Amino acid sequence: MTIFSKIVSGEIPCNKVLENEDFLAFHDINPKAPVHILIIPKVEYTCFQEVDPKIMVGLTEFTQKVAKLLGLDERGYRLITNNGSDGGQEVLHLHFHLLGGAKLSWSHL
Ligand code: IMP
Repeated sequence: MTIFSKIVSGEIPCNKVLENEDFLAFHDINPKAPVHILIIPKVEYTCFQEVDPKIMVGLTEFTQKVAKLLGLDERGYRLITNNGSDGGQEVLHLHFHLLGGAKLSWSHL
């Protein structure tokens, strides 16, 4: 079980932003931007390469809601997923980094 599944189950606490039946958004513990949120499906897909494409519709709607809730929808934001070893993925539970609150350079992730 990944650390993110433990967050989903409540075993490990998180600073939650939004949750529905399928997805959870919470603040990254080590933020790389003024706003740094992790968005995850509750189902433990290892990475983007393994995800069921059908969940991406719901994930898109959920991510748009999170961005709006945090006031990022007007100024913009960056959405990233690190896929596998070369992609720099550390937690093997699919997650998207939502970064914003400043003009971002490529050094942000
Ligand atoms: P990755 O390198 O794309 O796998 O990113 C993993 C992210 O998870 C990193 O930005 C970490 O700071 C973050 N992270 C790891 N453990 C926790 C936690 O317990 N709560 C919130 N964020 C975490």
